[in-house]
Amino acid sequence: MKKKLLVTDIPDSQYEGKRVFVRVDFNVPVNGGKITEDYRIRRTIPTIDYLTRCGARVILASHMGRPKGRRIERLSMAPVAARLNEFLGTKIHFPGAVVGRKVNNTSKRLKNGEVMLLENLRYHSEEQENDADFSKKLASLADIYVNEAFGTSHRAHASTYGMTAHFDKKLAGLMVGNEMKFLSRLIRRPKKPYVVIVGGMKIKDKIGALKNIIKKADKVLIGGGVAYTFLAAQGVNVGKCSVEREMLYWAREALDTYKEKILLPVDHVMAESAGGKKTLAVTGAEILDDMTAFDIGPKTVEKFTSHIKGEGTVFWNGPMGFFEVDDFSNGTSAIARSFALATWRGATTVLGGGDSVASLKKSGVKFSEATHVSTGGGACFEFLGGSDLPGISVLSDS
Ligand code: ADP
Ligand code: MG
Repeated sequence: MKKKLLVTDIPDSQYEGKRVFVRVDFNVPVNGGKITEDYRIRRTIPTIDYLTRCGARVILASHMGRPKGRRIERLSMAPVAARLNEFLGTKIHFPGAVVGRKVNNTSKRLKNGEVMLLENLRYHSEEQENDADFSKKLASLADIYVNEAFGTSHRAHASTYGMTAHFDKKLAGLMVGNEMKFLSRLIRRPKKPYVVIVGGMKIKDKIGALKNIIKKADKVLIGGGVAYTFLAAQGVNVGKCSVEREMLYWAREALDTYKEKILLPVDHVMAESAGGKKTLAVTGAEILDDMTAFDIGPKTVEKFTSHIKGEGTVFWNGPMGFFEVDDFSNGTSAIARSFALATWRGATTVLGGGDSVASLKKSGVKFSEATHVSTGGGACFEFLGGSDLPGISVLSDS
């Protein structure tokens, strides 16, 4: 992909008094009105701060969760406005809507250096439908467009794609620029051996990227929920684990073609139900008929970590189990520690994915113990797989 024009690539003076629409990814977990993880907000501060210092009038917009076109209070951006307030030390204008008269008025009254935050973009179904009218309304708010939402750049929505057609200047934010710089290097020539760790729940969401990445990787370690479909494809009994039937054929083929590369769990931590008391680790790959596997077992940890060395490149997306429950967090924690150790020993380590980042934290591993923690899960995966991200492709070339 071509290099994109960064916010810092045009003269500072061009921002003075201009309204700048910044698509950010503030899709942060909120519990009882409190933000429980704010690294996605923190990572955008340099761009927002830079623009305001240049005298721009900044309009921030993001989605949160899946409100599916309805106004759902628990998915409001209000707590984000409060957190931004703390970080930036200035009042954030929050009209409580995405489009309409109140938004237009607030945006018109913004002074140089002031910041306004729109409500959850997905309160309108037009956002994900990439609706032309909605795109036009959003675009009418500003003079310059900035994408600082790497985690949403693999989606062609109104705010990431449709609205950009109405701007001459479409710039990459500093964080997007960093992600691109780092991940591009990884696509071109990953230091070998290139080890990819995949977990999480849905192959279907990851298949495009997975297909490409398997070709490039030297080893692919598959754990978490996605592993059971691969095991089922091999004819292994997976008990009550959910299997993605439509992926079985592809999984079988991949296992045939890349016999030497793909490693699957050889044991599991299983239980009758996630809440059930009775958990047991078994020594075989087979899962008992009335049981579900919720974590990889100790032998699998040993097997996987033997490939996570202090050299080459390690890319990790997706927890190895249902790590939110302590009983099922050992596999993920062990992989997280081995991932950190690989960094200390000199490997280039990259982690991507909202839940993956949360699992790293829960395991007590610091972000500084990875070479790069991406703000994108799906986007990072797709990009490393070699796909163009629509939200990046539309930006002005450098
Ligand atoms: P990311 O957000 O990092 O891309 P995913 O969204 O793909 O990761 O998957 C994360 C979720 O997968 C977590 O909520 C985790 O609990 C769940 N998960 C992983 N393995 C299992 C398993 N064996 N059983 C149940 N849930 C699992
Ligand atoms: Mg996730």
